Parts: sequence; C-alpha cells; structure tokens
Amino acid sequence: MEENMKYMIIGGVAGGATTAARLRRNDESAEIIIFERGAHISYANCGLPYYIGSTISERDKLFVQTPESFKAKLNIEVRVRSEVTAIDPDAKKITVKNLDTDEEYTETYDKLVLSPGAEPVKPPIPGINEEGIFTLRSVPETDAIKSFVDDRSPKRAVIVGAGFIGLEMAENLHQLGLQVTIVEMAQQVMNVVDYEIAAEVHQHLKTKNVEFYLSDGVASFRREGERLAVTLKSGREIETDMVILSIGVRPESKLAREAGLEIGRTGGIKVDKYLRTSNHEIYAVGDAIEFENPITGSRSITYLAGPANKQGRICADNIAHGDKSTYKGSIATAVAKVFDLTVASTGVSEKTLTAEGIPFLSVITHSSSHAGYYPGASPMSIKTLYSPSDGRLFGAQIVGYEGVDKRIDLFATVLRCGGTVWDLGEVEHAYAPPYSSAKDPVNIAGFVAQNTLTGVSQHIHWNRVEEMNPDRLFLLDVRTPEEAALGMIEGAVNIPDYELRQRLSEVPKDKTVIVYCAAGQRAYFSERILRQTGYEEVYNLSGGYKTYEISTQRQANEDIFAGDYLGKDDHLYQADPERLERTGRLDGSWTPEREEEDRRLHPAQLKEVDASGMQCPGPIMKLKQEIEGLETGQRLRETATDPGFARDVAAWCNMTGNRLIEVKEDGPRVVAVVEKQERQVRPLTSTDGNNATLIMFSDDLDKALAGFVLANGAASAGKEVTMFFTFWGLSIIKKEQTPPVRKDLMGRMFGSMLPKHSDKLSLSKMNFGGLGSSMMKARMKSKNVDALEKMMANARSAGVRFVACQMSMDIMGVDAEELLDGVEIGGVATYMDAASSSGVNLFV
Ligand code: FAD
Repeated sequence: MEENMKYMIIGGVAGGATTAARLRRNDESAEIIIFERGAHISYANCGLPYYIGSTISERDKLFVQTPESFKAKLNIEVRVRSEVTAIDPDAKKITVKNLDTDEEYTETYDKLVLSPGAEPVKPPIPGINEEGIFTLRSVPETDAIKSFVDDRSPKRAVIVGAGFIGLEMAENLHQLGLQVTIVEMAQQVMNVVDYEIAAEVHQHLKTKNVEFYLSDGVASFRREGERLAVTLKSGREIETDMVILSIGVRPESKLAREAGLEIGRTGGIKVDKYLRTSNHEIYAVGDAIEFENPITGSRSITYLAGPANKQGRICADNIAHGDKSTYKGSIATAVAKVFDLTVASTGVSEKTLTAEGIPFLSVITHSSSHAGYYPGASPMSIKTLYSPSDGRLFGAQIVGYEGVDKRIDLFATVLRCGGTVWDLGEVEHAYAPPYSSAKDPVNIAGFVAQNTLTGVSQHIHWNRVEEMNPDRLFLLDVRTPEEAALGMIEGAVNIPDYELRQRLSEVPKDKTVIVYCAAGQRAYFSERILRQTGYEEVYNLSGGYKTYEISTQRQANEDIFAGDYLGKDDHLYQADPERLERTGRLDGSWTPEREEEDRRLHPAQLKEVDASGMQCPGPIMKLKQEIEGLETGQRLRETATDPGFARDVAAWCNMTGNRLIEVKEDGPRVVAVVEKQERQVRPLTSTDGNNATLIMFSDDLDKALAGFVLANGAASAGKEVTMFFTFWGLSIIKKEQTPPVRKDLMGRMFGSMLPKHSDKLSLSKMNFGGLGSSMMKARMKSKNVDALEKMMANARSAGVRFVACQMSMDIMGVDAEELLDGVEIGGVATYMDAASSSGVNLFV
C-alpha cells in the first residue's frame, strides 16, 4: 500500500460517506476529504417523509453522522457547503467552491470518488417555480416543506408522480390531516411493480380517501391568491395549497460529463465491475452510476440506498487494495409503506422483461402472512416472474399487510444467487404459527411456478381473458354459488369444484376452458380433474377472481373531494368528516348517533365472530352460518382480515335483506356489524317468483326492441320487472345530451366506439352502415309499432326498474351522469336480489 494517499470524495451522504468510512478502515495514513454541497452529511434521506409527517418527531434524529463526528471518530475531513465545480482528470485536480464565501480553490487527488446522487426531475411546466411547489431530496427542502405545513396550515396537497417518494409523502401529508390528491401520468402508481399489483394499491388508496388521477399529467400551475390552480393535461383543474413534485430523479452526471468521463445510455456515469469510471483514478458509486443489470444484461441505474452503501464498501476496498472486489449489479430490491400496505419488489417486472424482449412466465399467488388458525393472519399477493426454459427467477412483487418485507428478502436472496423457482420451493424458512405456515408464501409461489414448467398446470392472466374469442371460450367458475353470487366474470358458468366430477358433461371439450376460483387453488384442483379426463386446452386464471376483479375495476379515484368546499374562513368543509373518517364511505350506513343508540338498545345482543385469517369466501360463509343462529333483530360483529370483506358484506346484506349497521376498516382488519332481519333469504336459483328480470347485454337495436317488448308485456301482466343493463347494453340508457364527463383513456376509447344513446343503435344483422336501422325505424312507424324511445318511456311509466351494472360502468368508462335520470346503479347483488324473486330471467 502506498503511503499518504490522498482520497477526495464528492458527495457526503449514502455512497460518499460509506466509501470514506471504509477507506479509513483500509488506510489509516491516507488523507481523506469529503466535499458536500449541502450543509449536512450522512443524513437519513429515506426518513425525510416521516419527519415531515411527524412520525419521526426530532429533526436531530435525521443526522446519522456530522462533520464533527466524522473528524473525531474517523479522522476524515468534511467540507460542507463546498461544491466541486470541475474535475481535471489529467492534472488529477478538482476545483471547489465555498458556497458561503464564493471563494474557489483547487485540490489534488490520488483517487477520486464520485457519489453525487440523483436530482429530482423538474420539467419546464408553466408556473413550476411558484411558491408552494416543492421537491424533496435534501434537508433544506425538507425544512421548507415542514415549515410551510406548520406555518400555513395547508388543507390540500397535490402530489405529482406516484413513485415511492410520492406515495410516502401522500401518506405523511394525509396523516397530518391534509386532503391529498395524486396526479400520475402512467396508468398505475408505483411503476416498478406491474399493473395487477399496483391495482391493489389503488383500491387501498381509495379506502383511505386519497384522490388520484391516472393517465393524466400536469399542464400548468397558476397562482390564484392564496391558492394554486393545477391544470391537468385532460383539462381538469385542481385547487390546492401546496404541491410536491415527485416525478422522478435523474443522475447528477453533469460534472462527470464535463470532465470527459463516459456517460451511459441512461445518463448515468458508466462504471465497470470494479466501480471504476472510464478514468483509471476515478471511481463512482450510488444513484449516479450506470452498471450492467445482472438479470437483463443491459445497462441500468438503481436509485436505492442499499446498493449505494454496498457499492461504497466495494469501491473503498478496490481503491485501497487494488481492483479485487467486484460489484455484481443491483437487482433493485425495494420496499415501501403505503398507508397500511407494504409494497415490495425485487428483480425485474413484466414491463421491463417485455421491453427487453426476454421470454418469461409469471404466476400470481395469494397467501396468508401466517397460519390462518392463529389470530391476525392477513393476505398478501405475490407475482413471481421466471424463465420458461430453466425456471431461473427474474423477479417478484408482493403487496400485503404483514410479513411482506421478509418474503421479498427471501426472493431477493434466491434471485441474487441466480436461483430458480425450484429453489423458491425449497427455501427453508423459520416456521411457527404466529410467523408463517409450514409452506411459506414463498414456497407456494415456487410450487405454483414449478407446476407451469412441468406441464402440470397452465396459467393465463386476467388481461388475456378479454382477448380470447368468446365463441371458443368456456369460463368455468368453480367457487361456491354463494361466492359466485357476489360477483363473477361475465359469461362464466358456475360449477363448484366439489360438483365438477359429476357435472363434467356441462363442460364442452371443444372449447378453451379457463377455470377460476377465488385465489387459484380450487381452480388448480379442478384443472387437474379436467386435464386427466381428456380436456386439453385448460388454463388456470392466475390469481383467480381476486386478481381479476381488482385489476378490471375502476382504478382511478377522481373527484372525491368535489362535495367539499373551501369556506370564506379558509377552512375546508366536508359533508360529514367524522363519518367519512370512520367508515371510509358516505353511504349513510353509519352515524355516531345511531351507533350510540344501537349500543344502548342492544348491549348484550352483539355476538362476536372472528373470521380473521380466512380468505374469501371464508368470512362470508362464516357470516351466513353465524347469522342463521341469531334471532331477528340480533346483531353480530364480525372481524375479518380479508380486505374484500368490506365490499362483500355490503353486497351480501343487500342480497339477503339483512341490515348492515357499520363497516370499519383498520389496516387489514375489517369489522362489520350486521343485524338479522326477518326477511327470508331466497335460494338463488328460485324460479317460483311472479316477477321478471331481463339482462340487457347487447346494444343491438333489434335486441333492445325485443327486450322492451317483453318487459312491457310482463309489466302489463302485473309483474314487477327489472331490466339490468350491463356492458354494451348500457348504451341503451344513455342520455341524448350528456354533460361533459372526464374519462380515463379506456373510457374515452369505449366512449368513442359505442353508440351515444338509444337512437344511435345498429341492427345486429343487415345494418348496412346504418341504413338497415333507418329502414327498421321507418317500417316500425308504418306498422304503428312504437319507437324504442317510446317503448322505454312506456316501460318507465309502467314502473319497470332500470338498473345499470356498476362493474360494467367502471369497465366501459360510463359515468352515472351520462345515464337517463332515474336509472339505479347496482351490483350483481342487486341483480341477484331481483332475479331471486323472478319466474322469468332473460338474457338479451
Ligand atoms: P445522495 O445520498 O443523494 O448523496 C449525494 C450528495 O452529493 C448530495 O448530498 C449532494 O448535495 C452531493 N453533491 C452532488 N454534487 C455535488 C458536487 N458537485 N459537489 C459537492 N457535493 C455534491 N432509498 C431506499 O433504498 N429506500 C428508501 O426508503 C428511500 N427513501 C428515500 C426518500 C427520499 C425522500 C429520498 C430523497 C431518497 C430516498 N431513497 C431511498 C433513495 C436513497 O436516498 C438514495 O438512493 C441514496 O441516498 C443514494 O446515495 P448517493 O450517495 O448516490 O446520493
């Protein structure tokens, strides 16, 4: 080792401070100087959002080290407020500017380390420099946000960009009582995970009353007195008090570029496996470097603290001992807390694999955080990506409430070691009921993936279902009828798994069969039955109905603060903040007064039911079973940890006539209070009713006419008629003049393709570009047959109920305001409710 080496380090936070500290341990005699542009070194930038949100209450706790402690403990000189403005690699010299005095000077080096990090992207949007618009990277930026929040008491915040930092800020500002709106240009939040995993985050953000817009960006900011107007590219305008820009970051590579160092395709400083730049005496670490991705082989950057720290150690060893330690590249293992959820990923996503043209397979599995019989288990969803040829792991993504972090670390370990899905199956984890199951969620993911490689099972993903030819497709729902009644995929046939062997004749052999259950396991068992009884084209819907439902429902959460207003006294007023806070919904099912009254009237009558740890349909089945033992008027309080229970219990009560008193969500826990009602639950297949129900699925003029002829006929015969408009059928009940409604991309696409209202419907046959329907209307007139609009009016006056299917509206992007006045909006439960008392059920 050479004597008295001079090591200069640019940047004194994650990568720079670690490199410096390790250098000292390697070389006691060296002169080590850190130059840091800011006033602080080695601070906890990952903790900044939590300091703003007051979870970290003391500012001092953010500072892991200080220049003084570095000097005292490590004999490292730290020059803060010192910006390196130029590097002269030939002379091995840097120019430094003292930012307090503006004085400039030079320093020579034997080895130079660059750890300048990444800077927040600030695009040239009009008004972006207005007061009240912040970025978050450093301590001064944190202080600025914190004092704005403390001094100005803002009521609303807009977060632009829904990456990790954006979502952490959303949570922290929400925790301070602000109404938070997120604007995200992509169709999902958290771009590092794939859509179906992000969809779970979307649904969770909804339960927290976070407003968010997807597939929309900011066009401009405008100051209007005390407030900021944020205009989106879609034309929508949001009023706010403050804005956090978290659009993304880019490597701070300007200094390196100007020094003639090689810059990679990503804009990062190119380093080799020893973390050496294109100049022999200069190394680089952290957010600013570009390295070879160990999974894809292409050049990439990782903006994470873990890799920066580990690179610092390798870099210091190579500087002190010669290039012996190699950096294998980051696999981007990341985790974030998003309200009650934990979202984590490692390796590469489907999006990246697709973009890189790498063949892959993926499976989605749903597991419990620990044994279901031990209290408090909560669900987690895992997406596993791997090579179709040898099962090598490419990546994993997990979303859940508990134990997500340790599972992603297991995946990351297998991935880091070049492991396969067989290795996942063999991971030997620590197990006792409070912590895991004998087969951990990671093992299960491995087993399921293995099955797809050995041909035991074939998976298909939710987004492929729509692409398949419906004439060639048989969708087989193997859940119980009770589960199916709460919602199923349009067109599916329900044959419970326990009846499948006896009812095989109902499953056509000449069609592609997609079989699904709630999460995938029962579908797998059924798939095995089918495969072994001569069915060749059978697929298991990956992640089951749970993933399908979450991914196909409306994702954005727009206009939720529309009912609120900013008063003259500068307060934000909302209809009933306490109720919204407690129930997460404003459906009138809960009021503090009512709860008080209920407690007084029924103190001893509340039966406690614990369904925690049960996956759908467990909690609903338990509710059904327990309520049967109650007297009319008695109540039960059921606690479940399946978040879907909040929705299911409402639909179930609606369907069975029991009264839902309250639903509260608290993290993964859903607590519902249900009162037994006298009304008898009808069997779902009942055909003894006197009423009629028509499912209006088609937007063909002739089919709509046929439907209304039958509906009016049934109404005139004294039947109660319900017309349930779903999918294309929604066009029939659209207003002729619709108010302007903001829609997402798919909504706009469907909107442009679909008939605007009933007068624009086409014939199913011989339409001849609209000529056929005009001829039909003329012919009907000549034969004194009412036009469709007249038939609809007749139906309305005869008391026919028009119900629009909520799920179809979400999918087709149809807004309630576009529908004729008086149309009810309901779910499958509403239909089932009507159908159960109908003797006539028609699908048109
Ligand atoms: P930095 O830590 O950013 O340090 C670079 C330093 O170099 C800066 O202080 C800068 O002032 C200084 N500098 C730049 N140019 C010069 C110059 N010319 N002269 C002198 N000084 C210069 N990562 C995670 O893994 N998990 C998290 O939870 C997480 N949360 C985060 C939350 C926030 C709010 C932020 C901002 C980042 C977060 N990160 C997180 C990312 C993580 O902080 C970075 O990946 C990590 O700090 C990168 O280390 P670095 O040394 O490359 O850069």
